[in-house]
Amino acid sequence: MERASRLAGVTMVFDGFTAVHPTDLHIPAGEFHSILGPSGCGKTTLLRILSGFQRPSGGHVLIGGEAVDHLPANRRPTAMIFQSLALFPRMSVRENVAFGLEARGVSKRERIARADELLALVALEAHADKRPDQLSGGQRQRVAVARALAVEPAVLCLDEPLSALDLKLRQHMRSELRSLQKRTGVTFIYITHDQGEALTMSDRISVMNKGRIEQVGTPTAVYDAPATAFVAGFVGEQNVFTGKVTSVEKEFARIDGPGGTFTGRRTPDVALGDQALLMVRPERTGLVDGDGNGSGVNRLTARVEGRELEGPYLNLVTRDATGRRIVLHLANDGSVHPATGATVIGFRPEDAIVMPVAERPVAAAA
Ligand code: ATP
Repeated sequence: MERASRLAGVTMVFDGFTAVHPTDLHIPAGEFHSILGPSGCGKTTLLRILSGFQRPSGGHVLIGGEAVDHLPANRRPTAMIFQSLALFPRMSVRENVAFGLEARGVSKRERIARADELLALVALEAHADKRPDQLSGGQRQRVAVARALAVEPAVLCLDEPLSALDLKLRQHMRSELRSLQKRTGVTFIYITHDQGEALTMSDRISVMNKGRIEQVGTPTAVYDAPATAFVAGFVGEQNVFTGKVTSVEKEFARIDGPGGTFTGRRTPDVALGDQALLMVRPERTGLVDGDGNGSGVNRLTARVEGRELEGPYLNLVTRDATGRRIVLHLANDGSVHPATGATVIGFRPEDAIVMPVAERPVAAAA
């Protein structure tokens, strides 16, 4: 079942509106791959094209090196789980899981044996005779996964499958799905607009914006080395400053703006005189104490406006002289932090990134 998936120059135009610009994407067999992006960016369309529910305007879909363009969804080595799950309400859990096998001519005995095997895999063997409405949301989710895996797909496509669950269950199901994917070795392609979900579950992430994949990379690469301003802003939080580039040196650039003069690592396309953004993560922005000790050489004065406790972390919300909101993500380790009033904050140049204001989409890596 070592079958890689490839989109080659896939495009989708609906009535003159380009939902997917020419896209190349290669997903090796056995990868947990997330497609992450805001609502309407084309995620579902891309997945529907891959699994055969949508015919693209252009380009090709290859699985295991072979074009599957001519095959309808039910003849492709893919399975798809929709947000609604679409379980059959009058069938038992076991019958739901066995359903796809009947259409493939598998004998009843074998169907039951296979369904029970899959129910054991998702830890639902004790619930085989129940109907879907007698299960919890998380259990229904697992039935949908077992049903999709029954037909032994090379690729399982999941379209925001956890969005209907409450936060706690969603977090639990993240690790369940991830572990199931690793145990079965089936390629999972997982659509989400939730960056936390994508970062925790994926081997690699495609970050999509307005019909284009702007970056493909590991969670670490996407988070620590965003290729575009969109990726930097969409994946995780950023404190953002704007200004004109007044110095460019090796991998660093300095910007001069209303909030102050700051230095950060730069993307290769930053040029002297450009309007640029400087972004730094809240967890890389710190406090500078009265003696001037503390985070980094970039410094500014800000007023503390409030604090938000997030269990192990504390978000200190501040505002600089220009009215810009700057958040510090501090460890909740018992340290005493300023409650209100002016304070000096700072960050290291190597923790900040400078990019041109104009978004220049980066071609997706194959
Ligand atoms: P969401 O997270 O909200 O589901 P998405 O990223 O999955 O969004 P798509 O469903 O792929 O986005 O839609 C991408 C764009 O294409 C949207 O602007 C949508 O309105 C448009 N679109 C999708 N399907 C059709 C269709 N059948 N006819 C016309 N436009 C469509």
